[in-house]
Amino acid sequence: MTYQLNDKVKDLIPYDAVAGDYKIRLDANESFINPGTQFQEEILSAVAGIELNRYPDSKATELCRKFAAFYGVDPERVVAGNGSDELITVILGAFLRPQDKLLLFSPDFSMYQFYGVTYEKEGIVVEKNTELVLTADLAIEAIEKAKPQAVVLSNPCSPTSLVISRDDAEKIVRSTDALVIIDEAYMEFSDQSIMDLTTAYDNLIILKTCSKALGLAAIRLGFAVSSKSIINALHCVRSPYNVNGLTQAVGCVIFSHPEYIRQAAAEIKKSRDYLYQEFLKFQGENQMIRIMKPETNFLFVEMKDAELIYTELKKESIIVRRLGDFLRITAGTKEENDSLVEALGKIFRRLEE
Ligand SMILES: *Cc1c(COP(=O)(O)O)cnc(C)c1O
Repeated sequence: MTYQLNDKVKDLIPYDAVAGDYKIRLDANESFINPGTQFQEEILSAVAGIELNRYPDSKATELCRKFAAFYGVDPERVVAGNGSDELITVILGAFLRPQDKLLLFSPDFSMYQFYGVTYEKEGIVVEKNTELVLTADLAIEAIEKAKPQAVVLSNPCSPTSLVISRDDAEKIVRSTDALVIIDEAYMEFSDQSIMDLTTAYDNLIILKTCSKALGLAAIRLGFAVSSKSIINALHCVRSPYNVNGLTQAVGCVIFSHPEYIRQAAAEIKKSRDYLYQEFLKFQGENQMIRIMKPETNFLFVEMKDAELIYTELKKESIIVRRLGDFLRITAGTKEENDSLVEALGKIFRRLEE
C-alpha cells in the first residue's frame, strides 16, 4: 500500500521565499532598520527572564495591552498571532464554512487566494480597474453580485502600493453583512486607517503585522482588531499558545518604545519618497511604463520587460520581486537605494545600445 497525496495538495509548490546570497535585498518589504541593535540589552534581559520550561501566556495579555495602547484601541478587542499570516489562515479556515464564498481583488496579496484554495473556499477574484485602483463602487458592485461570506483586501495594497481612502473603506464595510477583513500591514506609511471603526461595525477585522514598519519580521508577530464577539470567536479557534514566549517578550520591549516605532516609520517613509523621486527621473526611459504613487515602503513599477530587468539586477547582486510585468521594490537604506538607482541607470543605458 502507498499513500497518495490527493489532488488538492499534490501539485502545490512552496512559497518562493528568495534563497541565496544577494548584496542588496529589496524583495520582501522588510524594514532596513533592526531594532535588535538599538534595544539589544533590554531584549536580552527580557528573554533571560523567561521561564523556558513553562508555556507562555496563552492570550499574550501584556503584549496585546501594549499594542492596544500604541494604536489607541481597547485591549479586549485585540488578538495576537504568529505573524498576521497565521491570523489570515485561522480566520479563513475557521470562520468560513466549506462552501462559503470568499471575495478577493486582483492584484492583491497572493496569500489570500492561496489560503482560500487550501481551505476549499470558493474564491471569487475581481480585477481592479486599469489604474489598479479598487474604488468603493467597484468593490460594492462585486459584493452585491457575488454575495460572499467574506471579503479580504490589503490597504495600502501589496503589491500596488496604493491606498484607498478611509471614506471608501468605510463605504465597503457598511455596504454588506459579510465579514470584511482589511489588512493594514503597511498603514504606518500612509494615513487612512479605519482601525477605530472596529467599534462601529461588527463585521470588520483589521489585521496588523510587526514585520514591516516595526522591523520585527524575524519574530513572527501580528494582530487582529475587531468586535468583541469576533475576537472571542478568534480566541476559541486559534491554537492555545500561538505566540511563543520569546516573541511576546521581544514584542513587549519594542511596544514600550513608541518613539522608536514612529521614528522608524518616518525614516522608512523618507527613504521611500527619495527612491520614488529617483525613479521619477527615469520616466521617459524606454523600459519604464509607469510607476504607482507609493503609500507603503515599496515601489510598484511597470516595465517593458520586467523579467529582463529583474535578471539584470540579480547579476548586480540586487534582488527585487517580479510580479508579471511589474517589479515590486522595497525602499532600503540610502546606500542601497543609490546602488539600485545606479545599477538601473547602467542597465537602461546598456539596453539602448
Ligand atoms: C508582509 C505582509 C503580511 C505578512 O505579515 P506577517 O505578519 O509577516 O505574516 C500580511 N499582509 C500583507 C499585505 C503583507 O504584505
